[in-house]
Amino acid sequence: MATPRALVAGNWKMNGLKASAVEIEKLNALVRENKADCDVLICPPATLISTLTGKGIEIGAQDCHMNIRGAHTGDISAEMLKDLGCSYVIVGHSERRADHGETNEIVRAKAAAAQEQGLTAIICVGETDAERESGETLDVVTSQVRGSIPEGATVANTVIAYEPVWAIGTGKTPTTDDVAEVHAVIRNLLMDRFGEEGEMVRIQYGGSVKASNAAELMAVPNVNGALVGGASLKAEDFYGIIATY
Ligand code: PEP
Repeated sequence: MATPRALVAGNWKMNGLKASAVEIEKLNALVRENKADCDVLICPPATLISTLTGKGIEIGAQDCHMNIRGAHTGDISAEMLKDLGCSYVIVGHSERRADHGETNEIVRAKAAAAQEQGLTAIICVGETDAERESGETLDVVTSQVRGSIPEGATVANTVIAYEPVWAIGTGKTPTTDDVAEVHAVIRNLLMDRFGEEGEMVRIQYGGSVKASNAAELMAVPNVNGALVGGASLKAEDFYGIIATY
């Protein structure tokens, strides 16, 4: 079975000021010196995108609107992100699903808008603590994957990030067996959707990944990289995860 090249992505969330450019410069130096064998991406807040592009590290966004332009005060379109030099956009992060009521339908429309503009959509899925406790994990993840991938998606412009909500920012992680089980289900859904080529869609694991647990998590079958929150803010910490590849 072919394995896609891993993508290790940092989600800075609502953290970072202009001075954070120094972290991107440090990260770029670490990646170049050590020739990391994976793709590396940072998704800073939208305010920093234009400051951080062109510094050697791929830059993405944390969200986009489902429309290309119009009367949507405060929102940012995929076309604008592309114009700023982004190559990826995260959609359906659990914080957006929870804080902004984003449904699978909304996530799918956002992913479609991103992909139509030539961006790769990192589509986040994952169960809550209550859903895991009640044995619904696989059903929840299945309906999120099926419901959030747009019609016109391709293997090249789609990444799935499996992020158990209860593992985000908590220091808790699922067992490697649990990660393997969910990633295998996602892989099968991607093969149903894209045929044989579905084996080349990258499936990231996200949720309290740090340098000390990355090697174990990244070695799980069908884990093709990580989506990292807290441990992506400092170049040295984030590089500790990248270096597992
Ligand atoms: C995230 O927000 O996507 C995430 C995985 O956060 P953390 O690594 O801090 O758990």
